[in-house]
This record gives sequence, C-alpha cells and structure tokens, in this order.
Amino acid sequence: MNPHHLPPPRLGPHPQHPHHRTGNQPPHTPRRPLWTCRACAQPWPCPEARLLLKAEYHTRQQHLSIYLAGLYHDAMHDLYHLNPHDAPTPHQLFNRFVAWGPFRRSSSEARE
Ligand SMILES: [Zn+2]
Repeated sequence: MNPHHLPPPRLGPHPQHPHHRTGNQPPHTPRRPLWTCRACAQPWPCPEARLLLKAEYHTRQQHLSIYLAGLYHDAMHDLYHLNPHDAPTPHQLFNRFVAWGPFRRSSSEARE
C-alpha cells in the first residue's frame, strides 16, 4: 500500500456527551474548535463534565475511553491547526482528555 495515498483519518465521535442539562443552561459539552466548555467556559472536559460523563458511562466504561480518545484526536487536530506553536503538548492533552477516564486492568492485575 502506498503510504502517500492513505485515506484521511476518520472524524471522531460527535461531542454530545454529557447529555445532562440543568434548566435552560447549555450542557457541559465542548465548543469547537477551542475545546472550551459550552456551559462554564473552562477547558473541556471541565470538572462538571467529568463527573457527568462518569455517571453517564457508569456501566459502559470502555465506551467512555473510546469516546474520550476520539475527542482527544479531534482536539489535537483543531488546536494544532489553530495554533501550531503554542498549543498544549500531546502529553498535556492526553492527561486532559484521556488519562482521567477509566482504564482497563493491566495484564499483571488480570492474572491475579
Ligand atoms: Zn463545564
């Protein structure tokens, strides 16, 4: 396969979670392309969004990991195109989007 003719990466998930809303307030979902929270303007996912996401995905934690990893990809895409020199580092973005979420057990724990 010619690496110069690979298809563009698929777009990630729709950033529509968490669904929870309070009254007429906007949900704590990301506003692209800056990835700030629609409700509180903090960097997304804000603390409220993290709590709501953990509750919403309580019984489907692997889906939360996939959702967050997809948004991590999209956020890197947006932020690096907006500001290629001053965007957060990949490590900072990974911690912000993915590292706080659920993890699979390590292989050593699985053997116990
Ligand atoms: Zn928020």
